[in-house]
Amino acid sequence: MKIVEAYLGLGCNLGECEANLCSALQQINELTSVTVNSISSFYRSKPLDNMPQADYLNAVVQIETGLLPIPLLDKLQAIEYQHGRRRHQERWGPRSLDIDILLYGDQVINHSRLRIPHPGISQRDFVLIPLVEINPQIRIPGLGKISEVVALCPDRGLSKLPTPCLSKKHR
Ligand code: ATP
Ligand code: CA
Ligand code: CA
Repeated sequence: MKIVEAYLGLGCNLGECEANLCSALQQINELTSVTVNSISSFYRSKPLDNMPQADYLNAVVQIETGLLPIPLLDKLQAIEYQHGRRRHQERWGPRSLDIDILLYGDQVINHSRLRIPHPGISQRDFVLIPLVEINPQIRIPGLGKISEVVALCPDRGLSKLPTPCLSKKHR
């Protein structure tokens, strides 16, 4: 089995966000063939496009996984549903848990269910800044060094919070 390093972006703006992110991290770490290696700080961000919604709580994790990309997406979507995530018509609507696969090794994937690198990555400070925090050496396929990508990203006024939970490995 080939082990790949991947990065996931988590978000929440509905319900008990701190608890949702912590229990999602726990469940990700408990998935077969997935290990959480590092967790960024938690960040508070404004909704995209200034939508009239509550602020978001965001974090990024680095995992190692033997799962292929689509089976990994299936497992992560199951964790979203277990945390009360319902998909509505409205894009970027309020959500109790969102887990996006940001990077999967150095792969570029254009599948109907999965695009990697995540298409929003270069415009989202709440993804790039926590990525830099956990690994400033990342190269984003097609975009280059993360330090250069983050320098071009609009600053939407992210605030950094202490990480309230750690994976088992870090206790
Ligand atoms: P955005 O993708 O712009 O952050 P979103 O997270 O709100 O928006 P969702 O409703 O969570 O979007 O996901 C819609 C679909 O996007 C999912 O059902 C999934 O198949 C697809 N998708 C495509 N690329 C990815 C990816 N890299 N990670 C997670 N889902 C993805
Ligand atoms: Ca998302
Ligand atoms: Ca998503």
